[in-house]
Amino acid sequence: MFDTHCHLNFKAFEGRVEEVVNNAIEAGISLIVVPGTDRESSEEAVKIAERFSGVYAAVGIHPHHVFQINQKTENRKNQSSDFSYLLSDLSEIEKLLVNPKVVAVGEVGVDRHYYSKTKYPNYNVYPEFIEGQKEFLNRQIDLGLKYNKSLIFHNREAKKDFLEVVRDKWDEKLAGRAVFHCCEPDSELLNFAKKHKIFIGIDGDITFREDKQEFIKTVPLDLLVLETDSPFLLPSQLRVGNKKRPANEPKNLQLVAVFIAELLRMKTKALVKITTENSKKLFQIS
Ligand SMILES: [Zn+2]
Ligand SMILES: [Zn+2]
Repeated sequence: MFDTHCHLNFKAFEGRVEEVVNNAIEAGISLIVVPGTDRESSEEAVKIAERFSGVYAAVGIHPHHVFQINQKTENRKNQSSDFSYLLSDLSEIEKLLVNPKVVAVGEVGVDRHYYSKTKYPNYNVYPEFIEGQKEFLNRQIDLGLKYNKSLIFHNREAKKDFLEVVRDKWDEKLAGRAVFHCCEPDSELLNFAKKHKIFIGIDGDITFREDKQEFIKTVPLDLLVLETDSPFLLPSQLRVGNKKRPANEPKNLQLVAVFIAELLRMKTKALVKITTENSKKLFQIS
């Protein structure tokens, strides 16, 4: 089985990556892609990928971290954007793209969600920040094309801005090489994906979100890929009691696969087979 989106590079897994990868393998998840979200986590993703044969990396700047364009300016209230700081990070990320264990640029996209828990003081979603996100999405699609890598797209509550950039930048070379990771249950996104052969990433939140349970029934099987988005989106079966929730792990993909197979009235084995094949195509892994 293939976990197409798992942040083994995040703090939640510090010091226990090997154990988590071994547990995954034991549960039948032998392939994992670790996406970066900024320069540091992209470098970490590559380091992890180099340690394990079935683990691959994606590198990129997540839209949330584009907020850094606002961090180095003297007067934050002024909300003027300074791209130079983040552009130097992007050129470091570009250097990672020649590494054979790097299979994709990601995760990149547009995100209008207001995060209350964030490392950025005064975090807010203002027009110039969204313009910055779109600019970095644009540049990172170019990087994917330049280095012939796949693309992991992140969109949250920003469909209009997100699709505007992707539509504008679309290149046929990306057909079958891109994924709407943790796809919002939305017919416009799905139609766009069908038209351009973009894969749809489904996560553990399907176990407790009815809108996603309805949505998946409309996704063509040949576009379906599975992901845990670990350490986030723990499946409902593991959200028990009032105890502090454990970090989600790639081994839990097995639970998600069983749940989805039941929902789609198919055998788990058949679902695993097709989604694994789809994921390999997406990242061009033989
Ligand atoms: Zn994401
Ligand atoms: Zn992610």
